[in-house]
Amino acid sequence: MYANSLIELDRAHLIHPVASYRSHEKHGVRVLASAKGATVTDASGKQLIDGFAGLWCVNAGYGHESIVEAAARQMRELPYATAYFGLGSEPAIRLASELADRAPGDLNHVYFTLGGSDAVDSTIRFIRYYWNARGRPERDQFISVEQGYHGSSTAGAGLTALPAFHAGFGLPFDWQHKIPSHYAYRNPVGEDPQAIIEASLAALKSKVEAIGPELVAAFYVEPIQGSGGVLVPPKGWVKAMREFCRAHDILFVADEVITGFGRTGPLFACSEEEVVPDFMTTAKGLTSGYVPMGAVFMADHVYETIAEGAGTTAIGHGYTYSAHPVSAAVGLEVLKLYENGLFDNGVKAGARLMQGLQSLRDHPLVGDVRGRGMLAAVELVVDKSNKTPLPASAEPARRIFDRAWENGLVIRAFGNGVLGYAPPLCCTETEIDAIVERTRITLDETLEDPDVR
Ligand code: PMP
Repeated sequence: MYANSLIELDRAHLIHPVASYRSHEKHGVRVLASAKGATVTDASGKQLIDGFAGLWCVNAGYGHESIVEAAARQMRELPYATAYFGLGSEPAIRLASELADRAPGDLNHVYFTLGGSDAVDSTIRFIRYYWNARGRPERDQFISVEQGYHGSSTAGAGLTALPAFHAGFGLPFDWQHKIPSHYAYRNPVGEDPQAIIEASLAALKSKVEAIGPELVAAFYVEPIQGSGGVLVPPKGWVKAMREFCRAHDILFVADEVITGFGRTGPLFACSEEEVVPDFMTTAKGLTSGYVPMGAVFMADHVYETIAEGAGTTAIGHGYTYSAHPVSAAVGLEVLKLYENGLFDNGVKAGARLMQGLQSLRDHPLVGDVRGRGMLAAVELVVDKSNKTPLPASAEPARRIFDRAWENGLVIRAFGNGVLGYAPPLCCTETEIDAIVERTRITLDETLEDPDVR
């Protein structure tokens, strides 16, 4: 009864992100009521393992009292402090310092946002400002990677390379360019790592030449492409792209909104290849989703150029909630939990998850299994020999998501029949095994569905 009235209220008033409003009205909302560890409970009392950590963000898992306490303490003492007018708060200053200590290389300056989209948007503004400060305003062209995701702000959604974020929105802008993804399973050059790296380098080189080498401002990558279907580049790819950018005086931005904070193992994925970007964007795991926050990391040389360029003039970029003290207090506590066992558990659980998902390769619907750490995907096909995707007309994402739900598992089902996994790092072995087992049951049921085949 309670849930039914919520469904009606939701249908009438709540606009959902990245949804078909008409399908949502038809299907109605599923109301989540509570959660603990890696388990979520819906309004009817059904319990499910959250194999996607909310939206790849609840890295610490649900229900940590110490996080709740940190937020409550901060709310009692100082629920808000602006960072305008030269003001600040202890947790925000401490969090910036703790993060800078751990960030790769000289990424020593941290700008706090509310999430990932405004972190990306901030980099676009900072990069324009930087090139102006260097007396090179003509360097205003941006390059990103097909299948990439860089948020949903107007400028960031143009760097995002997923059709739903462009169609009907007048995007991308003419200063936003793309090169093909490294997507190994469907790469025209095949799956050989070196061939993929060379193809990407050649594509970037020819894109830069086509735009004009003196006009390119920045290149954006995700160390692993998330929303494009968990596409893992070959080892060495990120480093090769970074080195190309360094050699051509192009700023290199690593978007670690998903890959940061232990998702792939270490604190930041780019450190796995000893890559130091000029900017790094983060969010999600920064506060484990308990409260909203993102962070832009800026390298020393960028900071100095911007600071010198502005002199005593205010740099007109800021949000009311930049460096929010409650979010920062949560960020500090989350970091402590990560380093006191959660990252270690995530590495072990991630190895078990990959092993378990690899065991699904023998299933007739499974074309590819890929991932790193606690970030993985299973790509479904109707025919393994020619990699034919599931028919879009059968709405495979909805069907698979619904079936997994019935089987007590929350996963992300992408539109093209790719299943995404990003469980909380606290998962036990039993929970990881259950994620794999429930996936297998879901795949068996999907195989029996005549509309999907
Ligand atoms: N960049 C990447 C790589 C992301 O995955 C996301 C969100 N999934 C964003 C940016 C945007 O973050 P948010 O949704 O917090 O605005």
